[in-house]
Amino acid sequence: MKQLPAETVRLLSSSQVITSVVSVVKELLENSLDANATSVDVKLENYGFDKIELRDNGDGIKAADVPVMAMKYYTSKISSSEDLENLTTYGFRGEALGSICCMSEVLITTKTADDDYSTQYILDRSGHVTSQKPSHLGQGTTVTVLKLFKNLPVRKQFYSTDKKCKEEIKKIQKLLMAYAIIKPELRITFTHNKTIMWQKTKVSDHKMAFMAVLGTAVVSNMIAFQHHGEDPEVFLSGFLPKPSSDGYLTSHSGSERSFIFVNNRPVYQKEILKLVQQYYNLKLHKNSNRLCPVFFINITIPPSAVDVNLIPDKSQVLLHNKDHRSRLLTENTKVSTEELMVKMEEMWETLNEEEKKKYEEKAGRDLERYNKQSKKAMDQSIQRSTKEREKKHKSKLKDCLSNQQKLDKHFHSQTEKKHNNCKAIKAVQVPFSMDSFKHKLRMLEQKESDKEEPCLLHLQSFPDAWIITSEKKIMILNPYRVEEALLFKRLLENHELPTEKLDKPIILTDSVFSDSRYKEVLCNMPSESIRFDGSSYLLDSRLSANGFKIKIIPGVSAMENQLEIVGMSNRLPYYGVPDLKEILSAVVNNNAKEVHECRPLKVVNYLEGEAVRLCRQLPLYLSKEDVWDTICRMEKQLGNQHKVCVHGHPFVHYLTDIPQSN
Ligand code: ADP
Ligand code: MG
Repeated sequence: MKQLPAETVRLLSSSQVITSVVSVVKELLENSLDANATSVDVKLENYGFDKIELRDNGDGIKAADVPVMAMKYYTSKISSSEDLENLTTYGFRGEALGSICCMSEVLITTKTADDDYSTQYILDRSGHVTSQKPSHLGQGTTVTVLKLFKNLPVRKQFYSTDKKCKEEIKKIQKLLMAYAIIKPELRITFTHNKTIMWQKTKVSDHKMAFMAVLGTAVVSNMIAFQHHGEDPEVFLSGFLPKPSSDGYLTSHSGSERSFIFVNNRPVYQKEILKLVQQYYNLKLHKNSNRLCPVFFINITIPPSAVDVNLIPDKSQVLLHNKDHRSRLLTENTKVSTEELMVKMEEMWETLNEEEKKKYEEKAGRDLERYNKQSKKAMDQSIQRSTKEREKKHKSKLKDCLSNQQKLDKHFHSQTEKKHNNCKAIKAVQVPFSMDSFKHKLRMLEQKESDKEEPCLLHLQSFPDAWIITSEKKIMILNPYRVEEALLFKRLLENHELPTEKLDKPIILTDSVFSDSRYKEVLCNMPSESIRFDGSSYLLDSRLSANGFKIKIIPGVSAMENQLEIVGMSNRLPYYGVPDLKEILSAVVNNNAKEVHECRPLKVVNYLEGEAVRLCRQLPLYLSKEDVWDTICRMEKQLGNQHKVCVHGHPFVHYLTDIPQSN
């Protein structure tokens, strides 16, 4: 028997932590969040195998910690296993950076608030710093991972098919979505081969975050819940599908839109997933085949009641369980998975009952109103005998005649009045000089411009910072942010996604339209002149601008019309029927008439990316006139309400007040 070389031991243990591209992204993102980052950019090249880069604006790594940052089992987050009982960070094992170094070439650029400038470090396979140089990046940390799995050809081989690579991208997107939901304040972008795949701006709360991730159509079909249990101490919160929800919007064939968190940590907890799924399929959508509901649940329990150290990627946790107690748990905690499930069942029952009651009450009220109206209509029609109707008709005619006479009289008197007034006009001389009038006008204009025009100053060293003053305040303006918001608005309103003909049309069967109003909306849209086979194409900018070309083949009645998607945009990954349903839902539920009111979430995200890209093409130095022009367009087109760019950064920052002289 021989001892394995240190290099092999490192490789073997690392390949348990870093199993895929998504595991690298997860570890790096968790490090950024643990460092209090509020903005994270994730960039991949060639599905992450050439390059994975995460840039954050977090606390950075202190120079003293740099030599050990990628040494295995060095961590700044805990000091001993007891600290796990009060764990508030995602990471704690001090393994990730070291393991990533084993599998790839790693560069880390970092700057803390105390550092004057950032430094880029190059690390070797054992996590040692081999060289360093100053860098231009701002506060935060950027980790660049190059040539992942170069020394593990079999693992790389696993991703040799296009399908596997695309699945990996989907998994990364789901992972980022999970953190985006649980961290509303986080701004996050995800780019693959320079194309923005997905992004989310900073928002105020979980509901807004859930909406930013899944779209308003889905969230309007969900119900928020909160539950607080004292013994065992547990707090549940999140969103579940409403009992009356549109099954097409609130379910998926897989669990890609099911989000479970334990103490803000995204987890894959089979029992909870199964429970929600059972309820959804049994109680809400009886006819559906084992669908996975869209939902989000955060379970908050004392950290001492959870063992997060179960599997290397921490995506499963162990809650204290009666017959299977984890090695890291203290004796007196009582939270178990079963107890949690009981709580969830109770909670959903109450939610269901409440919702049902609301619907029944509303339906009762609607029925009552309908009965009242139809009774009134019946009574009226009986009362109004034919004779009476004739009488009424005659008197109406009489009224018309007498009105005409009144009108003639009025018209006559008006012309007479005018005539008399003309006779009464007298000529009066007033002292007036054109020169003095012009002079006064100029003075007035001068005064106006002195008062109104704010001062605009350019800070030479910062191309995106302009000092701007109003009457009372001094502010700093970033014209690029304004341009970005203006571009985004214009794209939302006017951009036409190019449509590509599909090889095989997608037939929109009735089962696709879980809500019959969707089909009705489509059938009522204008269509181009009918072709020889009776079919025609729908002509509606809400469809065409969003990249859908739909053919309508008339049936015996409007409800039997057949609809087919014959062309679709290929700009957006995984674009399709759910996105069309988002458009129709906006039309049906929000009466969306304009294109910008019914952009699907994926299109909004794509257009945000386009606005950012186009804005980057603006010249680096803008003239004063350019900036004035930007300010004018900002006031005219964005009004007073809209004050932030696509990333949620404000256009202007207040600096100070101008002291008032008496
Ligand atoms: P762990 O997260 O378990 O501590 P890692 O290997 O992931 O272990 O990271 C090692 C250490 O490097 C962390 O404890 C942290 O101090 C530092 N670190 C890593 N990434 C970042 C980051 N993005 N920002 C600030 N510090 C970081
Ligand atoms: Mg970590």
